[in-house]
Amino acid sequence: MQLALELKDGYRETPEETFSRVYRQTRVKARRRPSEVESVRVRWRAYANSISTLRIRDGVMQVGLSEALREAPEGVLEALAEILIGKVLRVRAAAEYEERYRGWVNREETRARLEALRRRNGHKRTSGTQGRRFDLRELFEAMNQRYFGGTMEQVHLAWSRGEARTHLGHWDPAHRTIVLSRFLDRPETPRLAVEYVMFHEMLHVAHPVEFENGRRRVHHRRFKEAEKQFEGLKEARGELRRLCASGFSF
Ligand SMILES: [Zn+2]
Repeated sequence: MQLALELKDGYRETPEETFSRVYRQTRVKARRRPSEVESVRVRWRAYANSISTLRIRDGVMQVGLSEALREAPEGVLEALAEILIGKVLRVRAAAEYEERYRGWVNREETRARLEALRRRNGHKRTSGTQGRRFDLRELFEAMNQRYFGGTMEQVHLAWSRGEARTHLGHWDPAHRTIVLSRFLDRPETPRLAVEYVMFHEMLHVAHPVEFENGRRRVHHRRFKEAEKQFEGLKEARGELRRLCASGFSF
Protein backbone atom coordinates (compact mmCIF):
# COMPACT_ATOMS: atom_id res chain seq x y z
CA MET A 1 0.00 0.00 0.00
CA GLN A 2 2.41 2.59 -1.18
CA LEU A 3 -0.23 5.24 -1.58
CA ALA A 4 -1.29 5.09 2.04
CA LEU A 5 2.21 6.04 3.10
CA GLU A 6 1.94 9.32 1.26
CA LEU A 7 -1.24 10.34 3.03
CA LYS A 8 -1.07 13.47 5.08
CA ASP A 9 -2.34 13.37 8.65
CA GLY A 10 -6.09 13.18 8.76
CA TYR A 11 -6.39 12.61 4.99
CA ARG A 12 -8.30 9.62 3.76
CA GLU A 13 -7.12 9.93 0.17
CA THR A 14 -4.13 11.28 -1.70
CA PRO A 15 -4.93 14.24 -4.00
CA GLU A 16 -4.57 11.83 -6.95
CA GLU A 17 -7.17 9.51 -5.42
CA THR A 18 -9.55 12.39 -4.76
CA PHE A 19 -9.38 13.62 -8.36
CA SER A 20 -9.70 10.08 -9.68
CA ARG A 21 -12.75 9.32 -7.53
CA VAL A 22 -14.50 12.60 -8.31
CA TYR A 23 -13.90 12.00 -12.00
CA ARG A 24 -15.50 8.55 -11.85
CA GLN A 25 -18.48 9.94 -9.97
CA THR A 26 -18.93 12.91 -12.28
CA ARG A 27 -18.38 10.95 -15.47
CA VAL A 28 -21.60 8.98 -15.05
CA LYS A 29 -23.55 12.25 -14.74
CA ALA A 30 -22.16 13.75 -17.94
CA ARG A 31 -24.44 13.82 -20.93
CA ARG A 32 -22.00 12.47 -23.47
CA ARG A 33 -20.12 9.74 -21.62
CA PRO A 34 -16.53 11.01 -21.50
CA SER A 35 -13.62 8.61 -21.79
CA GLU A 36 -12.12 6.97 -18.74
CA VAL A 37 -9.07 8.39 -17.06
CA GLU A 38 -6.30 5.90 -16.47
CA SER A 39 -4.00 7.96 -14.35
CA VAL A 40 -3.95 11.23 -12.48
CA ARG A 41 -0.88 13.42 -12.08
CA VAL A 42 -1.01 16.18 -9.53
CA ARG A 43 1.68 18.83 -9.60
CA TRP A 44 2.21 21.59 -7.09
CA ARG A 45 2.93 24.95 -8.64
CA ALA A 46 4.20 28.20 -7.22
CA TYR A 47 1.05 29.92 -8.49
CA ALA A 48 0.55 33.16 -6.65
CA ASN A 49 -3.20 32.95 -7.00
CA SER A 50 -5.76 30.34 -6.27
CA ILE A 51 -5.84 29.30 -9.93
CA SER A 52 -5.66 25.60 -10.54
CA THR A 53 -5.47 23.81 -13.87
CA LEU A 54 -6.85 20.52 -15.07
CA ARG A 55 -6.32 18.90 -18.43
CA ILE A 56 -7.21 15.46 -19.72
CA ARG A 57 -5.32 14.03 -22.63
CA ASP A 58 -4.88 10.44 -23.77
CA GLY A 59 -6.43 9.06 -20.61
CA VAL A 60 -4.16 11.06 -18.33
CA MET A 61 -5.50 13.78 -16.07
CA GLN A 62 -2.95 16.49 -15.30
CA VAL A 63 -3.78 18.67 -12.35
CA GLY A 64 -1.79 21.77 -11.41
CA LEU A 65 -2.43 23.07 -7.91
CA SER A 66 -1.17 26.18 -6.20
CA GLU A 67 1.24 25.53 -3.37
CA ALA A 68 -1.15 27.55 -1.26
CA LEU A 69 -3.47 24.52 -1.38
CA ARG A 70 -0.94 22.22 0.23
CA GLU A 71 -2.20 22.97 3.71
CA ALA A 72 -5.86 23.05 2.74
CA PRO A 73 -8.19 20.59 4.46
CA GLU A 74 -9.06 17.49 2.45
CA GLY A 75 -12.64 18.68 1.96
CA VAL A 76 -11.37 21.78 0.14
CA LEU A 77 -9.37 19.72 -2.30
CA GLU A 78 -12.43 17.57 -2.90
CA ALA A 79 -14.54 20.66 -3.55
CA LEU A 80 -11.92 21.94 -6.00
CA ALA A 81 -11.89 18.56 -7.76
CA GLU A 82 -15.69 18.75 -8.11
CA ILE A 83 -15.47 22.27 -9.57
CA LEU A 84 -12.59 21.64 -12.00
CA ILE A 85 -13.85 18.29 -13.23
CA GLY A 86 -17.37 19.67 -13.43
CA LYS A 87 -16.09 22.40 -15.76
CA VAL A 88 -14.30 19.95 -18.02
CA LEU A 89 -17.22 17.51 -18.19
CA ARG A 90 -19.86 20.24 -18.24
CA VAL A 91 -21.57 18.98 -15.12
CA ARG A 92 -22.26 21.83 -12.74
CA ALA A 93 -20.73 21.23 -9.33
CA ALA A 94 -23.14 21.37 -6.41
CA ALA A 95 -23.39 24.78 -4.75
CA GLU A 96 -22.07 23.21 -1.57
CA TYR A 97 -18.68 22.65 -3.22
CA GLU A 98 -18.49 26.15 -4.63
CA GLU A 99 -19.23 27.53 -1.18
CA ARG A 100 -16.74 25.29 0.55
CA TYR A 101 -13.98 26.22 -1.85
CA ARG A 102 -14.74 29.92 -1.90
CA GLY A 103 -14.95 29.92 1.88
CA TRP A 104 -11.44 28.56 2.08
CA VAL A 105 -10.04 30.98 -0.54
CA ASN A 106 -11.46 33.91 1.39
CA ARG A 107 -10.06 32.84 4.72
CA GLU A 108 -7.50 35.20 6.13
CA GLU A 109 -4.96 32.43 6.48
CA THR A 110 -5.31 31.49 2.81
CA ARG A 111 -5.00 35.06 1.68
CA ALA A 112 -1.86 35.50 3.72
CA ARG A 113 -0.38 32.40 2.12
CA LEU A 114 -1.22 33.62 -1.37
CA GLU A 115 0.19 37.02 -0.56
CA ALA A 116 3.46 35.40 0.53
CA LEU A 117 3.66 33.47 -2.75
CA ARG A 118 2.95 36.67 -4.64
CA ARG A 119 5.76 38.50 -2.89
CA ARG A 120 8.14 35.66 -3.62
CA ASN A 121 7.13 35.69 -7.29
CA GLY A 122 7.34 39.47 -7.46
CA HIS A 123 10.91 39.23 -6.29
CA LYS A 124 11.59 36.68 -9.00
CA ARG A 125 10.34 38.87 -11.76
CA THR A 126 12.72 41.69 -10.98
CA SER A 127 15.64 39.28 -11.10
CA GLY A 128 15.01 38.74 -14.80
CA THR A 129 14.12 35.07 -14.73
CA GLN A 130 10.78 35.75 -16.39
CA GLY A 131 11.19 35.26 -20.10
CA ARG A 132 8.70 35.84 -22.86
CA ARG A 133 7.14 32.46 -22.24
CA PHE A 134 8.93 30.65 -19.41
CA ASP A 135 9.93 31.75 -15.94
CA LEU A 136 13.20 30.11 -14.97
CA ARG A 137 12.44 30.34 -11.26
CA GLU A 138 9.09 28.66 -11.74
CA LEU A 139 10.72 25.91 -13.84
CA PHE A 140 13.44 25.46 -11.22
CA GLU A 141 10.87 25.19 -8.43
CA ALA A 142 8.73 22.75 -10.38
CA MET A 143 11.71 20.48 -11.11
CA ASN A 144 12.93 20.88 -7.55
CA GLN A 145 9.58 19.68 -6.22
CA ARG A 146 9.19 16.89 -8.72
CA TYR A 147 12.66 15.37 -8.75
CA PHE A 148 14.56 16.64 -5.73
CA GLY A 149 11.82 16.61 -3.13
CA GLY A 150 12.16 20.39 -2.88
CA THR A 151 15.57 20.00 -1.26
CA MET A 152 17.81 21.62 -3.86
CA GLU A 153 19.21 24.87 -2.59
CA GLN A 154 18.61 28.03 -4.56
CA VAL A 155 21.02 28.96 -7.33
CA HIS A 156 21.09 31.97 -9.63
CA LEU A 157 19.15 31.59 -12.83
CA ALA A 158 19.60 33.49 -16.06
CA TRP A 159 18.65 33.47 -19.68
CA SER A 160 21.60 33.68 -22.06
CA ARG A 161 22.17 36.94 -23.89
CA GLY A 162 22.31 35.35 -27.29
CA GLU A 163 19.97 32.76 -28.73
CA ALA A 164 22.37 29.85 -29.09
CA ARG A 165 20.65 26.97 -30.81
CA THR A 166 23.28 24.38 -30.17
CA HIS A 167 24.29 25.09 -26.61
CA LEU A 168 21.02 25.03 -24.73
CA GLY A 169 22.15 25.42 -21.18
CA HIS A 170 24.97 25.29 -18.74
CA TRP A 171 25.84 25.28 -15.07
CA ASP A 172 28.47 27.75 -13.98
CA PRO A 173 29.70 26.51 -10.58
CA ALA A 174 31.89 29.57 -9.95
CA HIS A 175 28.91 31.89 -10.06
CA ARG A 176 26.44 29.23 -8.96
CA THR A 177 24.32 30.08 -11.98
CA ILE A 178 22.24 27.96 -14.32
CA VAL A 179 22.00 29.59 -17.73
CA LEU A 180 19.45 28.53 -20.33
CA SER A 181 19.63 29.61 -23.94
CA ARG A 182 17.12 32.29 -24.74
CA PHE A 183 16.44 30.34 -27.90
CA LEU A 184 14.27 28.02 -25.81
CA ASP A 185 12.07 30.86 -24.58
CA ARG A 186 9.59 30.89 -27.44
CA PRO A 187 5.96 29.91 -27.86
CA GLU A 188 6.66 26.86 -30.01
CA THR A 189 8.95 25.25 -27.44
CA PRO A 190 7.11 22.49 -25.59
CA ARG A 191 7.33 22.98 -21.86
CA LEU A 192 8.60 19.43 -21.46
CA ALA A 193 11.71 20.28 -23.49
CA VAL A 194 12.59 23.29 -21.33
CA GLU A 195 11.84 21.33 -18.18
CA TYR A 196 14.29 18.73 -19.35
CA VAL A 197 17.08 21.24 -19.99
CA MET A 198 16.46 22.79 -16.56
CA PHE A 199 16.44 19.35 -14.92
CA HIS A 200 19.67 18.43 -16.71
CA GLU A 201 21.41 21.56 -15.43
CA MET A 202 20.11 20.93 -11.93
CA LEU A 203 21.67 17.47 -12.09
CA HIS A 204 25.00 19.19 -12.70
CA VAL A 205 24.45 21.04 -9.43
CA ALA A 206 23.62 17.80 -7.64
CA HIS A 207 26.34 15.70 -9.32
CA PRO A 208 29.58 17.64 -9.67
CA VAL A 209 32.29 16.73 -12.15
CA GLU A 210 34.11 13.48 -11.41
CA PHE A 211 37.59 12.37 -12.35
CA GLU A 212 38.08 8.92 -13.77
CA ASN A 213 41.61 7.72 -14.57
CA GLY A 214 42.69 11.34 -14.57
CA ARG A 215 39.97 12.30 -17.01
CA ARG A 216 37.32 14.86 -16.29
CA ARG A 217 33.82 13.41 -16.57
CA VAL A 218 30.90 15.80 -16.70
CA HIS A 219 28.16 13.39 -17.74
CA HIS A 220 29.45 10.48 -15.70
CA ARG A 221 27.67 7.24 -14.95
CA ARG A 222 25.89 8.50 -11.81
CA PHE A 223 24.76 11.59 -13.69
CA LYS A 224 23.31 9.55 -16.54
CA GLU A 225 21.64 7.17 -14.13
CA ALA A 226 19.97 10.10 -12.33
CA GLU A 227 18.91 11.65 -15.62
CA LYS A 228 16.81 8.59 -16.40
CA GLN A 229 14.28 9.57 -13.75
CA PHE A 230 13.06 12.39 -15.97
CA GLU A 231 9.55 11.51 -17.06
CA GLY A 232 9.31 11.73 -20.83
CA LEU A 233 13.07 11.77 -21.41
CA LYS A 234 12.78 10.33 -24.92
CA GLU A 235 10.02 12.69 -25.90
CA ALA A 236 11.90 15.70 -24.52
CA ARG A 237 15.08 14.80 -26.39
CA GLY A 238 13.02 14.26 -29.53
CA GLU A 239 11.53 17.75 -29.17
CA LEU A 240 14.96 19.28 -28.74
CA ARG A 241 16.24 17.49 -31.84
CA ARG A 242 13.27 18.87 -33.75
CA LEU A 243 13.91 22.42 -32.48
CA CYS A 244 17.66 22.27 -33.00
CA ALA A 245 17.95 20.50 -36.31
CA SER A 246 21.71 20.97 -36.38
CA GLY A 247 22.22 19.19 -33.07
CA PHE A 248 22.49 20.41 -29.53
CA SER A 249 24.50 20.04 -26.38
CA PHE A 250 24.23 21.11 -22.78
ZN1 LIG B 1 25.34 18.70 -19.26
